[in-house]
Amino acid sequence: MASAVSSSLMSPVRFCLHRSLCSRASRTVSANCFGERILCPAQGAAALCRQTNSPRWDGARGLFSRGGGGAAVEQQTLESIAKSIREQRYKRVVVMAGAGISTPSGIPDFRSPGSGLYDNLQQYNLPYAEAIFEINFFHRNPEPFFALAKELYPGNYRPNVTHYFVRLLHEKGLLLRMYTQNIDGLERLAGIPPKMLVEAHGTFATATCTVCRRTYEGEELRSDVMKGTVPKCPTCTGVVKPDIVFFGEELPQNFFKYLTDFPLADLLIIMGTSLEVEPFASLSGAVRGSVPRLLINRDLVGPFAWSSSRPHDVAQLGDVVSGVEALADALGWTQELKALMENASTTKSEE
Ligand SMILES: [Zn+2]
Repeated sequence: MASAVSSSLMSPVRFCLHRSLCSRASRTVSANCFGERILCPAQGAAALCRQTNSPRWDGARGLFSRGGGGAAVEQQTLESIAKSIREQRYKRVVVMAGAGISTPSGIPDFRSPGSGLYDNLQQYNLPYAEAIFEINFFHRNPEPFFALAKELYPGNYRPNVTHYFVRLLHEKGLLLRMYTQNIDGLERLAGIPPKMLVEAHGTFATATCTVCRRTYEGEELRSDVMKGTVPKCPTCTGVVKPDIVFFGEELPQNFFKYLTDFPLADLLIIMGTSLEVEPFASLSGAVRGSVPRLLINRDLVGPFAWSSSRPHDVAQLGDVVSGVEALADALGWTQELKALMENASTTKSEE
């Protein structure tokens, strides 16, 4: 573990907070991205992570980047991007999102001491917070995960303007796909159709028996999860696990839609993510070099913070909700967005 952390410090990609996920995911991407099987032992995690900076990876990036760079280009702004969306010059928008779009909905960070969730998990004597997402730990002791599941199960939190903004993009026929790292399901709750989503770290919407692999709808587990009971498979009595991607598990198959989505995109919007978890973070480099990338985030992150930023990159820094509202305003969508949210909350209260 120490090697993963120290290596990540040498890497321009400041990640590896999610050590095992990083190793597993990088391996999977290597295998799929370059058409060859690169299967390395788990302890090779750090080396694999560093491949984001290797000639091999840069080669792939070059492939994605063809057509960009070189000649002098006009600096983009939030307003110029909004204008191009309005004029339908950008109509295949890919959105990447992380935890920063969920915190305005009140989703607690289970790693932060003082958050109710963290305190709640202390009773389980986790060796460290991330053990809750380690598959081997889960097989021995699924209870802490289900305590978290009870908190995050769809229904406890409501989507916010960032989620509805993406739904509006979809309703206007402009969304190519949304890639999210979040497992709270707020994207679905906001009405973004599942086929428009790549939930890179999985979802509570479906579940699978850890023994016989029978699949379930998330709703079938709800009463057990809410009672604090570990859900068991009626067929084989195995533990039924929500389809959240744990450290040590494969990414969802549809993650690999990025291979066709990103080269097709004409605008990439990145919001509320530190771009620290691979392979998600490297997706930001998978759009063509001529494609503008708009970062709506508290800080400069990933390529926006390095010398590898591109002339078309735009950063709208500060509060994510304010950034999305500024974009909606520049698009002239503020009223429409408000109406969409009001409509959704009325529908919800009528349920
Ligand atoms: Zn079973």
